[in-house]
Amino acid sequence: MKISSAEFVMSNSDVAKCPKDRLAEYAFIGRSNVGKSSLINMLTNRKSLAKTSGRPGKTQLINHFIINKSWFLVDLPGYGYARVSKSSKKVFQKFITAYFSKRTQLVSAFVLVDCRHEPQKIDLEFMQWLGEHQIPFSIIFTKADKLTKTKLPIQIDEYIKEMLKYWEEMPNYFITSSSSGLGKDEILSYISEINTQ
Ligand code: GDP
Repeated sequence: MKISSAEFVMSNSDVAKCPKDRLAEYAFIGRSNVGKSSLINMLTNRKSLAKTSGRPGKTQLINHFIINKSWFLVDLPGYGYARVSKSSKKVFQKFITAYFSKRTQLVSAFVLVDCRHEPQKIDLEFMQWLGEHQIPFSIIFTKADKLTKTKLPIQIDEYIKEMLKYWEEMPNYFITSSSSGLGKDEILSYISEINTQ
């Protein structure tokens, strides 16, 4: 898929106020600093469509972007930021739960994980929750350029092994680098294929 237009639509913290259009929607979520904004900018060929933030965890909003005037890319807040208070974690949980339970036009989520790290409890729990609620998702391994060509497949294999302790099969996954553009075509083709089904 070629991205011919990518426009910001709205930010809000209330799922009821998200766009009413019944367009297919794809949501991107992951731990703060995982590289989500960089990935969204890489996918959409924009330098700063999504704000790469020096202050992770600050923006707790649902951000809608319309792509090619035909589908929504949704930038969800980063989770797992150590410095936010317990009460704001609760608010976050509530609103993410509301988003995933109520947003019926959501086609699939992309859960971003840093390819250098072993599976993190918070990501595993989140994916478990998506599974229990039958919300389709893919995993996106980010920052692949930070590992050597030899280390990358080893690290991914280890991740898969760990996942298979909890899942019957490995969920669909993509390996990406926002610096090199790795994985871009695969993710966009995947979205395009679902959209044309
Ligand atoms: P977010 O908080 O998940 O939106 O993460 P950002 O996109 O703001 O990225 C966090 C940090 O990781 C920034 O310093 C980025 O420059 C860096 N980063 C993100 N993606 C990549 C990548 O693919 N490769 C490299 N080398 N650095 C990346």
